[in-house]
Amino acid sequence: MSDYIVRATAANDNIRIFAMTSRELVEESRQRHKTSNVVTAALGRLLTAGALMGSMLKNPTDVLTLQIEGDGPVGGLTVTARVGETGGNAESGEGGNSHEIVCVKGYPKNPVVEIPLKNSGKLDVGGAIGKGILTVIKDMGLKEPFSGQTELISGEIAEDLTYYFVNSEQVPSSVALGVLVEPKGSVICAGGFIIQLLPFAEDEVISKLEERLSQLEPVTAMLAAGKTPEDIVEEIFGDMDLKIVDHIPARFYCDCSKERVRKAVMSIDAADIKEMIAENKPIDVNCHFCGSSYTFSVDDLKNILAEKTEK
Ligand code: ZN
Repeated sequence: MSDYIVRATAANDNIRIFAMTSRELVEESRQRHKTSNVVTAALGRLLTAGALMGSMLKNPTDVLTLQIEGDGPVGGLTVTARVGETGGNAESGEGGNSHEIVCVKGYPKNPVVEIPLKNSGKLDVGGAIGKGILTVIKDMGLKEPFSGQTELISGEIAEDLTYYFVNSEQVPSSVALGVLVEPKGSVICAGGFIIQLLPFAEDEVISKLEERLSQLEPVTAMLAAGKTPEDIVEEIFGDMDLKIVDHIPARFYCDCSKERVRKAVMSIDAADIKEMIAENKPIDVNCHFCGSSYTFSVDDLKNILAEKTEK
């Protein structure tokens, strides 16, 4: 099953819902970054959150960034998301739901972290991330991007985002994120949801929702049992005037290219580039986000240096 997001509303449009299955993109991220299990889970949760929040963006040029800085062994995680056209080209992006796709990418500071499981037998994502800060940046092409920051509550990510939505965006929300990893490493299932209450939701609706959520199984248990995002949404809101608005595919996609990486090389000090040229060996530069490797020959480096000194 390919990854996708379901957008829905309930309770007379007073609740908005985003639910997804993200196994494919989390597995791709694991293979690209060669993450250990706890990092697969941590980055997978943040990628899922990024995709869900990315689907809330209005324009194809908008970019959402989620950043976690923590004092735990992972060091930090960065995820970005945007809505592109199928194939992931933002520049030629057009409206129309049938062509939309959420493109998400991300990386951990340290891909390999080995820490003991929690007493419950679960991967200790909170322990791997530690104490720190969650930053949400929404670049919508304005002069200043929107940016909000909150302290991490537990480092388990879903809880941290729930806290962020309430305290930074003043939107009462419930966030669930889950990644189930096989002991050998591959991703069994991944997914999550974001439920948001709009300002006119009645108390009766709120208490019904709270009750449902308190009885709900963990999202990984539901996904592992074969439930789809639609099934999960149905289970919570089936009798609450549920309307499924649309389905949006999602994928791990990085828009890096040799040209973009060249710009990064261009920003290296001229003295350091000269040193690389003196060594007379090509250099490999990896894209942080996806791990793709780009080779720059000695001639490439000479051209870069010439262009740099012209400026
Ligand atoms: Zn890349």
